[in-house]
Amino acid sequence: DRLIAAEREPGEGRFDHAIRPKRLVDYIGQPRVREQLEIFIGAARKRQESLDHTLVFGPPGLGKTTLANIIAAEMGVGLKSTSGPVLERAGDLAAMLTNLEPGDVLFIDEIHRLSPVVEEILYPAMEDFQLDIMIGEGPAARSIKLDLPQFTLVGATTRAGLLTSPLRDRFGIVQRLEFYNLEELTEIVERSARLLEVETSHQGGIEIARRSRGTPRIANRLLRRVRDYAQIKGSGHIDTAIADAALNMLNVDHHGLDHMDRRLLLAMIEKFDGGPVGVDSLSAAIGEERDTIEDVIEPYLIQQGMMMRTARGRVVTRQAWQHFQLTPHEDAAD
Ligand code: ADP
Repeated sequence: DRLIAAEREPGEGRFDHAIRPKRLVDYIGQPRVREQLEIFIGAARKRQESLDHTLVFGPPGLGKTTLANIIAAEMGVGLKSTSGPVLERAGDLAAMLTNLEPGDVLFIDEIHRLSPVVEEILYPAMEDFQLDIMIGEGPAARSIKLDLPQFTLVGATTRAGLLTSPLRDRFGIVQRLEFYNLEELTEIVERSARLLEVETSHQGGIEIARRSRGTPRIANRLLRRVRDYAQIKGSGHIDTAIADAALNMLNVDHHGLDHMDRRLLLAMIEKFDGGPVGVDSLSAAIGEERDTIEDVIEPYLIQQGMMMRTARGRVVTRQAWQHFQLTPHEDAAD
């Protein structure tokens, strides 16, 4: 369990509900996405049509679910939501589709995890608003066709490359979410603090934002933990000193790195001389699964310029050596 994990945690929903932006104007950052959606939504509304099917991709915690909800709110329609792994059989998707009201948004999270049979049902539904399904088995099996109301499919995935190309091709709008910069994250922390009625100084907000790995979900989670700390160890007010003390206690350092990140980087430095080192050797050295290293730990460290993937293996950068106040090798990467 990592405090800085970007994935949604059980029980986080209740807290989310209070602070999740409901309209496009409240959606902080992602200016390109906002600008485009404003136009597409405005035009669809003017024509009194449903919005084109929309694919949103980007790392966890950046606001894909939030955006799906905002699209429905801006279009003035309902939202029904499900996810790739939940739709196990064709009938599961058929049930969702036949339950839609005209214009509704159908949100499918982790859409890259749909099974091929379910995906087959989705194609004619997206293209012609037709449900085309086999019922029964053996000689009694027959196919039925049903008209569906117009709807907008909003699909979310961590990487667009994970989708099959026939599925990807059926989305008229594709939006990519980027990590948030410090200014945007500070604004998110300050907005959440206001809604939660926690007094926070601007510098305190910056301190939390700085350590949030470019991710609103993490920013909001750290804010919650710092708020606890401020209430018990201080007067409830969050300033730089309180934020710093709380996050140090929680083992989240100034770059938002936690013990797992530090363990990986230090192993590379101390055991492999900074690399290059293969991911399997690293996995053995720190006792973490290869997948965990590749999907969970590495992406942020790479994005932060702390390490690189090269053809010969992983290497730490000069910046990583400096992070631990160690002297980088002459030939360390920049
Ligand atoms: P994802 O679906 O990409 O994993 P979510 O949409 O669930 O991410 O967002 C995670 C949290 O971050 C939510 O609590 C939401 O309130 C907050 N959040 C996401 N994007 C923004 C944004 N642009 N502005 C403000 N808060 C945001």
